Amino acid sequence: ERAVANLNDLIRNIPDFPIPGIQFKDITTLISNGPAFAQVVDTLAERYAPLNIDAVVGIESRGFIFSAPLAYRLGVGLVPVRKHGKLPAATHRVEYELEYGSNKLEIHRDAFPTGARVVVIDDLLATGGTVAAACELVQMAGGRVEEVAFIIELEFLKGRDKLTRYPVYSMLQY
Ligand code: IMP
Repeated sequence: ERAVANLNDLIRNIPDFPIPGIQFKDITTLISNGPAFAQVVDTLAERYAPLNIDAVVGIESRGFIFSAPLAYRLGVGLVPVRKHGKLPAATHRVEYELEYGSNKLEIHRDAFPTGARVVVIDDLLATGGTVAAACELVQMAGGRVEEVAFIIELEFLKGRDKLTRYPVYSMLQY
């Protein structure tokens, strides 16, 4: 493993963002550090290279930052899960509650062939609502979720309890 300052030290806490009472974990200070960003992507690539993954699913928008270089490293395609109204072709849609507000996510109906082996990537696991919705979309589109992966897991919010049907991997836990 490459010598990088502790990744934890590169995650910045922003109090009261986007609303009072929320401690926002800011990853911009991690991804602006070249060796740290490379270490994160390399760690994911080494984990998923042996799993015969057919596609990487990235969740809008911070999930795209990590899913795109991972897909490139694995030599597979990137499938975006996006907020409603953004994807141009026919979609599946799921509505869900999140830590602050509610949201609708979509995936293209023809995103992958039936039975495709998929890893789902987002930056952070909080309550688990976002990634649970993304996994439902992957299944609606005919994919199989092999694992869901995050850079950061907020363990006290127990997001894993919503994800008992899939293996869950996180790099940093708080
Ligand atoms: P969940 O659906 O409650 O698990 O929330 C996770 C989603 O909200 C992810 O897409 C995250 O990008 C975003 N999110 C929630 N809290 C934070 C945070 O503290 N930092 C960065 N993103 C967050």
